[in-house]
Amino acid sequence: MIKRMIVKIDEEKCTGCGKCVSPCAEGAIRIIDGKAKVISEELCDGMGFCIGICPEGAISTEERQTVEFDAEKAAAQAPHKDISIQCFKCGSGDEDRYLLPMRHEMGKACGSARSASPR
Ligand code: SF4
Repeated sequence: MIKRMIVKIDEEKCTGCGKCVSPCAEGAIRIIDGKAKVISEELCDGMGFCIGICPEGAISTEERQTVEFDAEKAAAQAPHKDISIQCFKCGSGDEDRYLLPMRHEMGKACGSARSASPR
C-alpha cells in the first residue's frame, strides 16, 4: 500500500450516464448497477482525465492509501468506447480521434470570473 492520488466517484451524484468510461485510458471505470465504479484501484493512475467529462460533478481525486498503479495491467485492458461522447463542434466520436474531456459550461464560468475581476 502507498499513499497516492486516486479517483473518487460520488454515487449520490452519479446518474450512470457512462460518459466517464471511455476517457479513462486505463479502463478503470465501468458502469455497474447503474453507477460508475473504479473496478480496480491498481488500474487508476489518479490523473483525473475523467473529471472534466462528468456533467454531474461526481468525480474528483483524493490522496489516500491504496495499491500501486499497475501500468502493465492497465495497458492490457481492452479499450471501452462510449459512442455518446462526441466533439461538440464537429461531431467526431472518440473512435475517429482522441477527444479531450471538458465541461461545456467552462467558457461561461471563465467569462463570469473575468468580468468580476478588477481591472
Ligand atoms: S460521467 Fe459522472 S454521472 Fe456519468 S457515469 Fe460517470 S461519474 Fe456517473
